[in-house]
Amino acid sequence: MVASLYGVDQEAKSIWVYLEVDGDSLAGVSLELIAKGREVCDQLGWELAGLLLGHGVSDLAAEGYAHGLDEIWLGDDPLLEHFTIEAYSMAAYQAIMTAKPSVFWLGATPDGRDLAGRLAVRLRTGLNADCTNLYMNAEEGRLVCEVSGFGGGVLALIEMAEHRPQMATVRPGVYSPGSPDRNRSGVLIPLEVNLTEDLIDTRLIERSIGEQVDLTGVPVLVAGGRGVDGDFEMLARLAELLGGDIGATRPPVDEGHIERERQIGQTGVITRPKVAICCGISGAFHFVVGIEKADLVVAINSDPGAPIFDYADYCIVADVHEILPGLITALSREREVTFG
Ligand SMILES: Cc1cc2nc3c(=O)[nH]c(=O)nc-3n(C[C@H](O)[C@H](O)[C@H](O)COP(=O)(O)OP(=O)(O)OC[C@H]3O[C@@H](n4cnc5c(N)ncnc54)[C@H](O)[C@@H]3O)c2cc1C
Repeated sequence: MVASLYGVDQEAKSIWVYLEVDGDSLAGVSLELIAKGREVCDQLGWELAGLLLGHGVSDLAAEGYAHGLDEIWLGDDPLLEHFTIEAYSMAAYQAIMTAKPSVFWLGATPDGRDLAGRLAVRLRTGLNADCTNLYMNAEEGRLVCEVSGFGGGVLALIEMAEHRPQMATVRPGVYSPGSPDRNRSGVLIPLEVNLTEDLIDTRLIERSIGEQVDLTGVPVLVAGGRGVDGDFEMLARLAELLGGDIGATRPPVDEGHIERERQIGQTGVITRPKVAICCGISGAFHFVVGIEKADLVVAINSDPGAPIFDYADYCIVADVHEILPGLITALSREREVTFG
């Protein structure tokens, strides 16, 4: 096996989190990973650091400290203004080879996944992608990554014995971001990044962002499965009345009834709403992982033996096409009475 560029004997006892920039703030998944990292570092007595790359982004450091970082390594360069895999992987590589952290976590976003893969190859280390949980084996100082495989039938626990850094990606929504403490502060460490334009093959011609659907923080999720027969308008009306949004299982997405960004579950979005209302959904494991962090689950299914009822707090055995119109009418009336 090829050795990584540095090993256990050279590692710094620290966890690093890649701080992805989303507009004017840090991406939600980065804050979630900071919260998890803080918990682990407090147990181990390790340092928690963030890697922030960009141009003119130093103001975001305060947000990182408030959420729990001890220090931020900042690579600021005009060539880092927009994400390009060549510039970002080179800057991240330089930073990691300078500090040699034991652990490096990234959000499993399009950019995070891109960066993680390129970097792992360059550092000659391993990468655990799309982990469903992370914790440390304190005795060995090893990261334990929980990864589901074989369509959810197997839960693998993966540790890296010798390769460093121990890299992992985690999808948005797996952890809670916690509350910021605006009195916390940290140390900003500027990085010397040696980038030149000829390193970068990617040319940004136009940047266009489509309508963004983010179900990770939605308070009420109304999810529909094959049993709603593609009637997502009905579900959208209910979601609107409850101040929420709609999601779906994979079959309606595959059949083109709803956008792929709204797929909930193992290969979709992991949500943690206050209430999840599951309509015409059987309750396959692949779907359930996307709602199991909800505070309350309501399931409506015409089959009393549907597995979704094993996860639900409230179980309604009924035809969705009969029960939902009545519920929508009742809620609309209540709203009229309340708001006139
Ligand atoms: C590797 C892999 C990854 C996957 N990832 C995902 C994922 O991320 N998300 C996901 O959702 N799936 C995923 N799947 C698919 C998953 O295994 C299930 O097939 C899928 O979740 C089933 O969707 P469903 O519950 O809508 O459909 P079905 O299993 O067909 O269930 C439909 C339910 O609707 C009920 N019903 C029918 N008519 C009515 C009615 N009129 N009123 C009330 N109830 C009614 C039925 O009783 C039934 O329980 C994945 C599969 C694989 C192999």
